[in-house]
Amino acid sequence: MVKETGFYDTLGVKPNATPDELKRAYRKLALKYHPDKNPTEGEKFKQISQAYEVLSDAKKREVYDRGGEKAIKEGGTGGGGGGCGNFASPMDIFDLFFGGGSRMHRERKGKNIVHQISVTLEDLYNGATRKLALQKNTICERCEGRGSRKGAAQICMSCHGTGMQVRMHQLVPGMVQQVSTVCHNCQGQGQRISHKDRCKTCVGRKIMRQKKILEVHIDKGMRDGQKIVFHGEGDQEPGIEPGDIIIVLDQREHSCFTRKGEDLVMSIELQLVEALCGFKKPVQTLDSRNLLITSHPGELIKPGDTKCVLNEGMPMYRRPFEKGRLIINFTVVFPKANFLSKDRLKDLERFFPEKPDAEQPDSMDDDLYIYADLGGL
Ligand SMILES: [Zn+2]
Ligand SMILES: [Zn+2]
Repeated sequence: MVKETGFYDTLGVKPNATPDELKRAYRKLALKYHPDKNPTEGEKFKQISQAYEVLSDAKKREVYDRGGEKAIKEGGTGGGGGGCGNFASPMDIFDLFFGGGSRMHRERKGKNIVHQISVTLEDLYNGATRKLALQKNTICERCEGRGSRKGAAQICMSCHGTGMQVRMHQLVPGMVQQVSTVCHNCQGQGQRISHKDRCKTCVGRKIMRQKKILEVHIDKGMRDGQKIVFHGEGDQEPGIEPGDIIIVLDQREHSCFTRKGEDLVMSIELQLVEALCGFKKPVQTLDSRNLLITSHPGELIKPGDTKCVLNEGMPMYRRPFEKGRLIINFTVVFPKANFLSKDRLKDLERFFPEKPDAEQPDSMDDDLYIYADLGGL
């Protein structure tokens, strides 16, 4: 007993059908309802394919028999690789079955075209507009993509206008494979146009190569690698929905700032005297303002210290009035060796907190004095 028979009904077989019977039933229906032949029956074709996808797999069939469609959608194969609820695309199944070949003809949407554009961090901070010139195929305006005078095209008699030819190919006696190929007579166009009726503008090609200027708006806060999509701006072709033009932002490195999420990170190098006695450092922002970074009176900056300036990071994408932080990492440059004479160094020492007392053992060999030579490591 099976829980439900929906998938079997879709294929028009009994629940005890053998794999062979399933295959034959599916083949017959898939051919009848394939979108190439029956564009209005796409939904039916999908149902047939889904039903077959489940029932042709022994494991999935068992799950379906036990728990019905619900069990399949929940992926209840019990430790199978999951993904059971994801039906393969009916087109993929069709390919498996009939050896592909008609894919080009079936794609209802043209290819996407991807362009990369180089942007600066300033562009991403302030926003920018770029003009991009590109070549693309457009449908010939004169003949509106017919390639000929109105009514001059005749349906190809070899393929009856489908653009495809189906022929049987015998693998071994008793086993026949059905192969679809692009019609040779019309090169898959499904129609023929005589020379004298050809459109003079596109020479019957139906499409023209045209220069197109795209205006790319880079919004404040966009990121490196972000995509800007121009829907339907790809190459045009009669009977096919044009693909998209996709612009990918490629941010060049900045000499001062590195972006970390919404924060900007930079380094400031301080001389030891600045680290000890205070500093003022101008920083030019990405919108060319000058920030003055200063220490508090009496503040010491140690190597590796960081300071944070709120609201001076990158603007948030789509909320450009909110900004991240500017994070400043400090390094401290020490003076060169012997920058002071021995006497003056002694004077300087007086201003520092006292050195900790070095404990002197009672007897000490001269050999045991070791200069802490930190250089050259
Ligand atoms: Zn034309
Ligand atoms: Zn043909």
